[in-house]
Amino acid sequence: MEDCIFCKLANGEIPTEIVYEDEFVAAFKDLNPQAPIHILVVPKKHYDNVMQVEENDDIIAKIYSAINKIAKKENFAENGFRVINNCGKDAGQTVMHMHFHVIAGKTLGDKIL
Ligand code: 5GP
Ligand code: ZN
Repeated sequence: MEDCIFCKLANGEIPTEIVYEDEFVAAFKDLNPQAPIHILVVPKKHYDNVMQVEENDDIIAKIYSAINKIAKKENFAENGFRVINNCGKDAGQTVMHMHFHVIAGKTLGDKIL
């Protein structure tokens, strides 16, 4: 996908500190962190958002498997964390490359559910 910032970050076209990567998934720090730890976990392949994940595509499982590994590697598995995915306009999605926010490192307030 041309001109997609997260495609470029996830595939090394724009250099950034990569927290985790495997064949399908990459993770890097959010530019504007909302918690002491704020990592974005994204597929290397472009999807606008969850609505483009087809039946039988296991990318979401791969993303959560990556989150599991990142939580252990970055030492926040024990204290816990929150995963947020904004999908579309009403959720306020601003970057149209599917991404999962992983926030951790403090007691997380502002629960909406
Ligand atoms: P959304 O609102 O779409 O769920 O989240 C987009 C997130 O991407 C925001 O938290 C924003 O700070 C982050 N972001 C936007 N542009 C960049 C960038 O160029 N690099 C990084 N690392 N994060 C970005
Ligand atoms: Zn993309």
